[in-house]
Amino acid sequence: MRVHKKRLDILTDVAAFKKQNKTIGFVPTMGALHKGHIALIERAIKENQKVVVSIFVNPTQFNNSNDLVNYPRTLNEDVKLLSSLSDEIIVFAPTPKEVYGDQISSINYDFKGLEHEMEGKFRPRHFDGVGTVLKHFFNIVTPNKAYFGEKDFQQLQIVKKLVEIEKMSVQIVGCPIYREESGLALSSRNKRLNQRQLDISPLIYATLKQVKKEFGTKSVYHINNWVSSQFENNSELKLEYFEIAKVSDLKSIKRKRKNIKYRAFIAVFAGEIRLIDNIALN
Ligand code: AMP
Repeated sequence: MRVHKKRLDILTDVAAFKKQNKTIGFVPTMGALHKGHIALIERAIKENQKVVVSIFVNPTQFNNSNDLVNYPRTLNEDVKLLSSLSDEIIVFAPTPKEVYGDQISSINYDFKGLEHEMEGKFRPRHFDGVGTVLKHFFNIVTPNKAYFGEKDFQQLQIVKKLVEIEKMSVQIVGCPIYREESGLALSSRNKRLNQRQLDISPLIYATLKQVKKEFGTKSVYHINNWVSSQFENNSELKLEYFEIAKVSDLKSIKRKRKNIKYRAFIAVFAGEIRLIDNIALN
């Protein structure tokens, strides 16, 4: 399996695939690969002749320097895992300089308000960083399809908007959230959880499931209060936000309306580790 660190090398491969009329699937990741990533990659393998997996901890999307420094990096293990999956995978694991040149900065995007909701409120300019790195990657890889997890549902919606804004021809494919048996959504950050935090973290998804159950009969006000109370006296988990929002614009709601699709979104701190999750409500 080829692992490229240089932009020029991946460009050469991509040009050869295009010449052979091969379809290219792309799965952007920050590495420390887990089964959630693998599910995306397997789907990409099924639907494309070649699959590029990027492994890049993108500095411009971190607003917290501690989080950036402590983000798990396991390139050798990731490469081993990928090489066991398919011969058609190419890994792109560049340095920041290779992606950004000398100026590591992000574009100011107008994602029509999507960027100001939820994650955007708590992680200033995070989505500018995501949009910028994906613009670079899409230009390099020129994929037919790119795969993103619903685990980062807001990101998925923003990537769809990015492709519109940049007039790119890539098709964005959303993939379901992959969970531990306990219900905890898989995340590279889970590697940093201690045993106590691992034991309590399934409460996040258990809460979302209960919200889904009650959404039909209880008011949004009642549900919001109930979720807050779930975390109020919890010494391990601190609720950052919980919102019920419209899928279309991600704006949180006070009251439900008919024929509108809603999702519940949550962000919780386990110590310093930030965990996010979401669930479709109707
Ligand atoms: P990351 O490496 O965390 O940036 O994630 C790379 C891609 O994998 C993103 O599109 C994520 O939404 C997706 N992803 C991460 N965790 C999961 C999961 N548990 N289930 C499905 N997709 C996931």
